[in-house]
Amino acid sequence: MPENTRPRPICAHCDGFPTVAITTGQTTPTRHRQTITATCPACLGTGHTAPAPSHTRVGV
Ligand SMILES: [Zn+2]
Repeated sequence: MPENTRPRPICAHCDGFPTVAITTGQTTPTRHRQTITATCPACLGTGHTAPAPSHTRVGV
């Protein structure tokens, strides 16, 4: 049996990776890489094609 069987279909827009951190090339004063978090607009960060439940809001 495959281990990667999921109960819900994976979002085709983000391929199951609804949130990604994008490095800006800038560094913060603490020498950490500054990143922007992008959330998939199609699945609203759920990674599935089903609508996002109200308790899984991500970001702004
Ligand atoms: Zn998505």
